[in-house]
Amino acid sequence: MTRVRFAPSPTGMFHVGGARSALFNWAIAEQSGGTFVLRIEDTDAARNRPEWTEGIISALAWIGISGDSPHFEGPYFQSAYEQQHRDAAAKLLKEGKAYHCTCTRDDVKARTGSEHQGYDGYCRDRGLTEGAVRFRTPDEGVTVVEDQVRGRVEFPNSAMEDFVIVRGDGSPLFILANVVDDMEMRISHVVRAEEHLSNTPKQQLLWEALGHEPPIWAHVPVIVNEKRQKLSKRRDKVALESYRDEGYLAEAMVNYLMLLGWGPGDDREIMPWSEMMPLFRLEDVNQAPAFFDEKKLRAFNGEYIRALPREVFIARCEPWLDPSWDRSVFERVADLVQTRVAVLSEVTANVDFLFLDEPVFDQASWDKAMKQGAAEILAGYAERLETVDWNPESLKTALEEVGLAHGLKLGKAQAPVRVAITGRTVGLPLFESIEVLGRERSLARVRAALAKLG
Ligand code: GLU
Repeated sequence: MTRVRFAPSPTGMFHVGGARSALFNWAIAEQSGGTFVLRIEDTDAARNRPEWTEGIISALAWIGISGDSPHFEGPYFQSAYEQQHRDAAAKLLKEGKAYHCTCTRDDVKARTGSEHQGYDGYCRDRGLTEGAVRFRTPDEGVTVVEDQVRGRVEFPNSAMEDFVIVRGDGSPLFILANVVDDMEMRISHVVRAEEHLSNTPKQQLLWEALGHEPPIWAHVPVIVNEKRQKLSKRRDKVALESYRDEGYLAEAMVNYLMLLGWGPGDDREIMPWSEMMPLFRLEDVNQAPAFFDEKKLRAFNGEYIRALPREVFIARCEPWLDPSWDRSVFERVADLVQTRVAVLSEVTANVDFLFLDEPVFDQASWDKAMKQGAAEILAGYAERLETVDWNPESLKTALEEVGLAHGLKLGKAQAPVRVAITGRTVGLPLFESIEVLGRERSLARVRAALAKLG
């Protein structure tokens, strides 16, 4: 029975790398008819916050991973299982596979002469009954981790110190809690970030010492920015929530995240989850760092937006439209908007001019468009707007003629009119915009801009 898990620590916003690991696990669970366990590793009380946990759960639901699916189990909270973690340590102590140790860091340093040397095994055979608990690692040989992504990775045991599994105050460490939970939850595959590969030989020894077959391991590659630096929350936009809040579609995000370190094996990139999920194989995940290319993600998102049925697009725009804006007016330009935006938050600036008393003037746009000749164009066009037939073709022809009279091509003549009407140099097609805005308001805006020019 395939049982995978996603085990985030709620210490910050939900990282896109975490989302990618969660999706890889989700694909395995769905394709095998197995189970995806969500376990919140909340044992670091100083760094955990309930809102981070909420954030993780809601961001996972956003990308389709939630209790709505029969494949989902949880959330479990690691802090609830401390007794099991302690019991496991007690078992290891009883069997002589772990021992108590009272050495401080300074003690070890004084004996070994180095800060960086691992623990020297001083308490191994002292028979202490209190203090921290250390796991007795083998002195010789190698621990071999068979990793589905990294292949066979060998760790010499001589380089592995007797590591601490329970602190002197009795609290279990991550390395132990993580293994005990995976064991108790009968996890078959541990698929997680590469940074945990170095913990894996220790964890594998713990699994074996506790009498269990280790799970299938898979460590997925790090995600880097365009400078090939590991994506970091201080430097890069890494929170899944911020992409959601900017108007990325969950479908596009899921598609893009799945391609970070994996591909369906042909040239196709835009592929819905239902098609990607059955194709996913851990063995096909790359070892090389995966580049998180925000530009490419935007392009994906634009494609997904354009592929939405019109009604769905309109519904999805709702959060970006002010409640007071007339929806029937928005619907008249919805098709134009749909072909232009890459993220939904851009919808607002594309249509606000239709609803506000005055457009929001972007200063740079104004400066760029209202140059020499602008006043003449605006004056000439205002005159034509009074009588021109009210359709985009006639509105365009009228401006073409005004431009011609002043020696300007349509492109140049459009700029001041566009800024007068919409406040910006870029946006929806101008003549359709004017048509929807209506004669009176369009005229008023062109005149207002003229007056402003002085
Ligand atoms: N709680 C760990 C983390 O967030 C996950 C460890 C694991 O997946 O085994 O990095």
